[in-house]
Amino acid sequence: MDITSFEQFELNRQLLNAIAELGYTEPTPIQQKTIPLSLGNHDVLGIAQTGTGKTAAYLLPLLMKIKYAQGSAPRGLILAPTRELVLQINEAVSELGKYTDLRHLALYGGLGPKTQIETLRKGVDLLVATPGRFMDLYRLGEIVTKDIRTMVLDEADKMMDMGFMPQIRSILEVIPTKRQNLLFSATFGGRVERLSAEFLEAPIKVEVTPQASTAEMVNQVLYEVPNFRTKINMLDYLVSKDAFQRVIIFARTKGTAENIYKFLARKVVESDKIRVIHANKGQNTRINAMDAFKEGNVQILVATDVAARGIDVAQVSHVINFDLPLIYEDYVHRIGRTGRANHTGEAITFLTMAEEYHVQKIERIIRMTIPRKPLPPEVEVVETPFDEQQAMLREIDEQRRKDDPTFLGAFHEKKAKNLPSPKSRLKAKSKLPNTKKTAPSSPGTRSGIPTGRPGGAAGQKGSGQKRSGSRGGRR
Ligand code: ADP
Ligand code: MG
Repeated sequence: MDITSFEQFELNRQLLNAIAELGYTEPTPIQQKTIPLSLGNHDVLGIAQTGTGKTAAYLLPLLMKIKYAQGSAPRGLILAPTRELVLQINEAVSELGKYTDLRHLALYGGLGPKTQIETLRKGVDLLVATPGRFMDLYRLGEIVTKDIRTMVLDEADKMMDMGFMPQIRSILEVIPTKRQNLLFSATFGGRVERLSAEFLEAPIKVEVTPQASTAEMVNQVLYEVPNFRTKINMLDYLVSKDAFQRVIIFARTKGTAENIYKFLARKVVESDKIRVIHANKGQNTRINAMDAFKEGNVQILVATDVAARGIDVAQVSHVINFDLPLIYEDYVHRIGRTGRANHTGEAITFLTMAEEYHVQKIERIIRMTIPRKPLPPEVEVVETPFDEQQAMLREIDEQRRKDDPTFLGAFHEKKAKNLPSPKSRLKAKSKLPNTKKTAPSSPGTRSGIPTGRPGGAAGQKGSGQKRSGSRGGRR
């Protein structure tokens, strides 16, 4: 059956009115395919790229199921990895549930639990929570779980990346086993597959678009930029152009994000036209920044992957990857910020020699080669400082070793021959990263060309572990 209208799902009038008010005329493909299954009480695994309407895909059947305010204990639980997402989903519940009397509550960390506890005690029908805060409040005895009949895991891939598996397991232990499970994700990698095997029961998997196909809707371009300072010059050049109306600049780390922000706010744009968000920013600062950016009052948002994940902002004109994400799927999420809902967007990536390795892995995931352009002549190319050069060479060695553990390191050989002072040699050595537990030995791969673990699984795994290590306890 072809579903071309929301009426065909036989949703109740309250929901249909809200949908009409939001201006949705036709269900998106993921909604068309998953809503009937969820309404039929199946466990569903929904995979579709960012910006395709996954939120309403699980919310509509869920709101249909819990219908109206009843009792005091929650009957539905939605888990999402970050505060921003929890707030965004909670907002969607407000919108879609506008004509119902359902009581819903967002639970997230970064602020005291007092208000959340007070609201819980008044009775709620639906919780939207980060796993950490949910468990905290459960342990305080503030959440009654016995009536939870539906559990949703949104952004399941990010949950895995962020190391939430242990928390999710604890939650599964304290909620009723007889329940419906819905899992939504933009990508479907090994970890999401394992998660779904662990907690879904005979799920029906719906994969709407081939993974990562967002890539095709966005004009992508790569610039080889030799070093940090030149990347900054290139940024300066780009964001001063008129077309760069609403720009998100992505950075791998909080430190880099801060540096970019400081530079641009000092030299390039008026300081009220730029904001930065990352995990160390206070709750309110992050929300304010997002709102100002959404409203168009802010031209530039500098963000780390974690902070920006899943955020829905219409019509971002440009995404700039100041550096490449180590979790390769994040590249797709990043560029998915632009080119949404039939707008073609532009994604610009800066690339040092140490990032060549990652771009190859990413190109394998998106199944295309990103076109390269020469740096505009207006951009001043700064010579790479010695330390930065060394750091990049070490990184390249490490990358090769990842693919071939027997590789000893061209850097060492070169270093012994060419490097100026023994002091720098010592320094380089002391900083050498620990590369135990990388790829299994694969003989004959000393060419330096990354060997074929498909989909960049190797790099992903390593960085994922690193990230989960430092983030596992965050809430
Ligand atoms: P995802 O979770 O897949 O990244 P979202 O659920 O955040 O995507 O939806 C992206 C945007 O599309 C939101 O602004 C949402 O309001 C809008 N949207 C969702 N469903 C529809 C629809 N059927 N028609 C039009 N817009 C929709
Ligand atoms: Mg989403």
